[in-house]
Amino acid sequence: MPAGGARGTLDAVRAWTLGSGSSGNALLLESGAHRILIDCGFGPRAIVTRLKAIGVAPESISALVLTHEHIDHAHGAERAQKKFRWPVYASGGTLGALPEIEPRWRHPVSGGSTTALDGFTLEAIAVPHDASDPMAFVVTAQGSGARVGVAHDLGAVPEALVRAFARCDALCLEANHDVEMLRNGPYPRALQERIQGGRGHISNATSATLAATLAGPSLRSVTLLHLSEVNNTPALAERTVTEGLRRTHFRGPVQAAPRRTAGVAFALTARAQVSVQLSLGV
Ligand SMILES: [Zn+2]
Ligand SMILES: [Zn+2]
Repeated sequence: MPAGGARGTLDAVRAWTLGSGSSGNALLLESGAHRILIDCGFGPRAIVTRLKAIGVAPESISALVLTHEHIDHAHGAERAQKKFRWPVYASGGTLGALPEIEPRWRHPVSGGSTTALDGFTLEAIAVPHDASDPMAFVVTAQGSGARVGVAHDLGAVPEALVRAFARCDALCLEANHDVEMLRNGPYPRALQERIQGGRGHISNATSATLAATLAGPSLRSVTLLHLSEVNNTPALAERTVTEGLRRTHFRGPVQAAPRRTAGVAFALTARAQVSVQLSLGV
């Protein structure tokens, strides 16, 4: 386990990725006793297994936040919501694609809106991606004021995201592909163009530029999400983003989230110190 105080310390903010990439995404955020889940790209049984691996009971999660309806982000959302009675916060477009969620559990959010959750404040930012009204989020822990920016799939970086993600303590950003690997890889030209067409996924280089733009004095940790298994490697993504950050004052960890296992994304103590990321075999 990371340094930074006993589990459940008031004001400590921790995050775990439960899987990252086209085979399924979920990110658990914890502030003191408060927990929310961002995306649920696994069925209920798999999500329980992965939560168990990090010592979290699904019943202790107070909200499910969804970035968009694609299967790798919302595959198990309806069934898990039903089972654990999680209120769901997502855009109207995302919720519209998930008809099994009963109206009383639906909490639509729109780009630019700020919503109070149990222990957190959720700010939604509309992002370009080939889904129905997809969102990125800034989550602020009400106990410590720590700000975490989470951007899963996005084809380009809107100005509103740059503004909203400023002054974050931790960033979780997509770094989908290396441009050269994509160009020289096995994907057909049409798929390459979809990925790079502004409503697909951002490259390591774009993620590096974004991280460098956002690297303010409070930033302590950068976690890279949604790496392509075919057109990227964790080492390449981490190196590209680390190099991009070299012209800033940021010297904290830059870690690619494990694809198929749970891993600690970051742990911020009340004083905003950070531990290194560890992988937990699941
Ligand atoms: Zn997507
Ligand atoms: Zn995705």
